[in-house]
Amino acid sequence: VQLPTKATHRQTREFNVRLVLRTLYDLGPVSRADVARATHLTRTTVSDVVTELFDRGMVETVGRGPSSGGKAPILLRVPADARNVIGLDLGETAFTGALVNLRGEISHLVELPVEGRDGADALALVDQLVERLRHAATGALLGIGVGTPGVVDTPSGTIRRAVNLDWQDLPLGPHLSERSGLPVFVANDSQAAALAEYVFGAGGRRTPNLVAVKVGRGVGAGIVLGGELFQGDGHAAGEIGHVVVVEDGVQCRCGRFGCLETVASARAITLRYRQLRDGADGPARNGHDDPSLATVRAALEQGDPAARTAVVEAGQFLGQAIGALVGALDIHLVVLHGGVIALGEPLLRVIRDAAAQRSLPLLSGKVDIRPVELEANLVVLGASAMLLTSELGLSVSR
Ligand SMILES: [Zn+2]
Repeated sequence: VQLPTKATHRQTREFNVRLVLRTLYDLGPVSRADVARATHLTRTTVSDVVTELFDRGMVETVGRGPSSGGKAPILLRVPADARNVIGLDLGETAFTGALVNLRGEISHLVELPVEGRDGADALALVDQLVERLRHAATGALLGIGVGTPGVVDTPSGTIRRAVNLDWQDLPLGPHLSERSGLPVFVANDSQAAALAEYVFGAGGRRTPNLVAVKVGRGVGAGIVLGGELFQGDGHAAGEIGHVVVVEDGVQCRCGRFGCLETVASARAITLRYRQLRDGADGPARNGHDDPSLATVRAALEQGDPAARTAVVEAGQFLGQAIGALVGALDIHLVVLHGGVIALGEPLLRVIRDAAAQRSLPLLSGKVDIRPVELEANLVVLGASAMLLTSELGLSVSR
């Protein structure tokens, strides 16, 4: 099949622009000749593309490089603030948004408490957050990256199901794009967090494969394989929270019974602790006392057997789920994030032991299970990084 010449030309041009931009971003400051060598494009093509990138404010000069006999070459790079991205984390207690530049640096952060909103009210809160950030932006905006709980069909920007927000088949991407006129990239929050940990975590030592497990109000995992987010056939890869682990267990938010979330989420742990402390039928000791994870942590440190049992039980379920993932994928790095990180080493030890009983790589001691390095704004940064990749073909690095 012969493509129309015009389309072919435009596609080639677009390909070249992305290639030159990525080269300047990854290798800059570099000369035009360096770019030509690295890309195998002609110097004329590189000069044309660089002129276009200058016009769009996507490239700047940074002095001259060493001369190889003739005139010293002008060095170019992509300015970190050439564009900003709006990154959103539709978290459990607050919706957080930030302006993020091309190097993943945050310049403006807004946090709006959710206060139990769901459905249309929760969507209105997202709109409000985007508006505030658009007003705060001084330079050109490239788009909006969103990390949200639930199963997300990324190509269409549709949230198939987010139980705690009461969203079903919500076209969040098209909705935000229509209101803002900007491209939008929507992904599951655990997946965004996994990508952020890959890009920014581990002290910049990138390991090509990792699993990031979130244990907060919900439980979910994001999987990075070969340096890329793995979403699976139905975009739900890593949705371990709703795998049934207890036959005839208690009912889950999703409607089924005995899901991992019902025994290992932050709330499951605090409820189990209260039940063990006060007795199954006994009233809460201080009236309507609802213990927090900090309470459980404090009780754990004082040697409270109820806290110990609650943490061990949850840790074993989490360890079994993680062990199964690691066993199937042979990934040697698992990072944990979310509220239960507050329970620290006592929980991690149980998870490690339980996981080790489930998988060969873990038995061999090669697998590292530890808290994330970059807890703050993990989802915001991951969602921004995804938008930068989809819009500019840039793989974010600092
Ligand atoms: Zn469930």
